[in-house]
Amino acid sequence: MKFCPQCAEPITHHIPPGDDKLRYCCLSCDQVYYQNPNNIVGTLPCWQDKVLLCRRAIEPRKGLWTLPAGFLENGETTLEGAVRETREEAGAELSMDENSLYALYNLPNINQVYLFFRAELANLDFSAGIESLEVQLFAEDEIPWDEIAFAVVRKTLELYFEDRRARQFPVRMYDVRYSADRRADIRLICQGRQG
Ligand SMILES: [Zn+2]
Repeated sequence: MKFCPQCAEPITHHIPPGDDKLRYCCLSCDQVYYQNPNNIVGTLPCWQDKVLLCRRAIEPRKGLWTLPAGFLENGETTLEGAVRETREEAGAELSMDENSLYALYNLPNINQVYLFFRAELANLDFSAGIESLEVQLFAEDEIPWDEIAFAVVRKTLELYFEDRRARQFPVRMYDVRYSADRRADIRLICQGRQG
């Protein structure tokens, strides 16, 4: 952020009175522009023993496979956002139950929070939206593990197939930190008792 959206004066970076963090401030109209983490909401759409993945048509990680997910919009609940993203990216309709909440990832290094819901596909009428090159169902041994776009998506897929074997889908929360070589260290912080 370089210029104030209200008065077009240059933005300065300083700690406002009573605060303890550097903020984007406009001294001309005495405005503080807070920057907060983004919420990314998505689903793990299942059909029998398969999971629906989308091949990304956009950067970052264009051409790689991911679960349908995207930024939560203002005025939307997390579940509404996840369902909308699934419709937009995979053209898919879902049927969900009260145990749909599945995995939460805190990514403090890149100021993001990821939230995934588990869902059944309502039917097989899915198709790639404009942000996807293709959309396809994969069984565990068909998943293109070397072409998964994001560490949290890979983790969610691994979790799902493990949980399926155990017939338990507890809600879990992880902290994800990236090392200098961009490797993700994913640590389990807490786990619900049932699911
Ligand atoms: Zn201003």
